[in-house]
Amino acid sequence: MRPVLLNPLFAPVTSLPGVGPKQDKLFRYLLGHDETPRLLDLLFHLPVSVIDRRARPKIRDAMPGTVVTLEVTVDRHRPAPPGRSRAPHLVYASDDTGDVVLTYFRAQPGYVEKLLPVGAKRYVSGTAQMFDGTLQIVHPDRVIDEAGLAKLSGIDPVYPLTEGLALGSLRRAVAQALQKLPELPEWISSEISRRCNFSSWAEALHRVHVPTELTDILPQGPFWSRLAFDELLAGQLALALVRAQLRRPAGSRHAGDGHLRNKIIDALPYALTASQQQAAAAISEDLRQPVRMLRLLQGDVGSGKTVVALLAAAAVAEAGKQTALMAPTEILARQHIKTIVPLAERAGLQVAILTGREKGKERRDIVARLAGGDIDLLVGTHAVIQDDVVFKALALAVVDEQHRFGVRERLALTAKGEAVDVLVLSATPIPRTLVLTYFGDMDVSELREKPAGRQPIDTRAVPDSRLNEVIDAVGRALKSGKLVYWICPLVEESETIDHLTDAEQRFESLKQRFGDKVGLVHGKMRGSDKDKVMAQFAAGEINLLVATTVVEVGVDVPAATIMVIENAERFGLAQLHQLRGRIGRGSEASTCLLLYREPLGEMSAARLRVIRETTDGFRIAEEDLKLRGEGDVLGTRQSGLPGYRIARSDIHAQLITQARDEALRILKDNPKLTGKRGEALRCLLYLFERDEALPLIGAG
Ligand code: ADP
Ligand code: MG
Repeated sequence: MRPVLLNPLFAPVTSLPGVGPKQDKLFRYLLGHDETPRLLDLLFHLPVSVIDRRARPKIRDAMPGTVVTLEVTVDRHRPAPPGRSRAPHLVYASDDTGDVVLTYFRAQPGYVEKLLPVGAKRYVSGTAQMFDGTLQIVHPDRVIDEAGLAKLSGIDPVYPLTEGLALGSLRRAVAQALQKLPELPEWISSEISRRCNFSSWAEALHRVHVPTELTDILPQGPFWSRLAFDELLAGQLALALVRAQLRRPAGSRHAGDGHLRNKIIDALPYALTASQQQAAAAISEDLRQPVRMLRLLQGDVGSGKTVVALLAAAAVAEAGKQTALMAPTEILARQHIKTIVPLAERAGLQVAILTGREKGKERRDIVARLAGGDIDLLVGTHAVIQDDVVFKALALAVVDEQHRFGVRERLALTAKGEAVDVLVLSATPIPRTLVLTYFGDMDVSELREKPAGRQPIDTRAVPDSRLNEVIDAVGRALKSGKLVYWICPLVEESETIDHLTDAEQRFESLKQRFGDKVGLVHGKMRGSDKDKVMAQFAAGEINLLVATTVVEVGVDVPAATIMVIENAERFGLAQLHQLRGRIGRGSEASTCLLLYREPLGEMSAARLRVIRETTDGFRIAEEDLKLRGEGDVLGTRQSGLPGYRIARSDIHAQLITQARDEALRILKDNPKLTGKRGEALRCLLYLFERDEALPLIGAG
């Protein structure tokens, strides 16, 4: 149960005076919430910059273009003449050095007169401008008297906003939320506080929202850093709690005698690469240990991760236990099944698939067989974490392309068994700090070699002014019997509609040119329709497949040897690499054409250069890092970490390791989080909504 102490922070923003339904909607949008955000969501929305109002020049010395706070006496008003509401209401004011005009457009009648009474002394803050040789401030941000000046901090925070939301109303809401801050027990050890120069949590929040120095709002400054550390510590503690609590019951092992694995290896139509063998051996060893496995298997697209995962599942089946393999998309889940089933059959391993598509009786059968222990390996999408999906003895969770799943989903899956081992498959090498952030300590296996017999991919960049030549070349390739992908970009969620018409239009025009063997697959299609098209493509009934990025992950049609990527400049490096990984999977040479729109920006040009130069995913990931900074590797904006609101991977990388070390130390000294410090740490976990692991250790 959440400590009542925290309740004020979990109150909805609409409980604040002046925040009504309209603001609710804007705040939801701004903070990316489906429901009404809580006060803490507002408080974790940190400023991006400040307006410095501390400059207090005389009128004569005010610099046009800068923000100034002037001390003036109001001389006279010139309201807009009747019938000319477009004309501004002008206020003439002065000090002993000169005059200033304060300009108000569309002012409510009487409003300006009340704000600036003739003869009164006022402090007026805003951006100074020169107009017709006179100093002017249009719509001053602040007009205050002596008492107001005493309260003016002089530095105003500026927040990321959304259309329709005024900075002032966001500031007011934040200020009100700050009033409600409860006093919380300190969860950070005094040693760390001293070393990192941290203030209390409440002071840190106050200082980033009500800065008294320009540097107070910097992410690398002590206040923001304190908040980032809190968030990271909560994350690391949650991960460490899960891991520490899940030792296997004595005597239970998750790997058997090897008889199923040997059958699979015998049935393989190829030899495992050396790194596949190493990875499989490391996993088998982990499965035998009394401590839970947490291993990341990194390997380029096409490096053969699926068979390694299958061998792990076989080892688990030998011990009479079950495996779940969760993939981010239905296409990918079906792809795995296709690779796995023929091999599994030879070994007598029972495999089933469960996605959103299996319904009614079919689904009931699968769920029943799973609960009865008749299924050794369940492959699926996030449908496998639904509540009524119960395993008889889940021992291994394989999570493919992990960064599409949150920590919560991974926990939901591992909660379906006891001391479940975790194997994460990733085609994009993840920087160490990110591994730490999402998994805590984790072992890593890499598949560095490509399976033998792979042909290189010839990659070229072509301006879209040469589209017709490209289409001609595609025509020639189709005539000689080749299979071709034509990729159209999906840029932003909000552009989904546009991009669909893009892909659809391209599909129509290519169909007109090349006839009925042109197909279309996109994310808005029903799963079964997608599969049908993919199957037709694999069988060659479709030879030109227009696709959005749904083919990005995992899809395997080895006979496809040509890929055209439209608007290649709009894709990220990792995504281009993933896409291109769909070709070059067979024994024939492949070609990838990157169509780009001119003029090409510097970053886009650099990306296309890298992708032309190499097909090594590890190198591409490194270049990607260089080009856009670590936080962006997972495709997030700025350098935020997905699932984290305050911590940023570029600036707080150091804090990630410190938080990890601190979390491990805490659990060593106080594994059940008891006593005063334990209580404080529980508070922290609730505050950052990482409390899902707390039931594992019981009440404090
Ligand atoms: P990944 O998931 O790493 O992108 P897959 O596991 O889908 O790659 O493997 C890609 C293709 O390579 C599959 O068709 C698979 O059968 C094949 N493959 C896997 N390992 C080898 C190997 N050692 N030699 C030849 N082909 C292999
Ligand atoms: Mg794969």
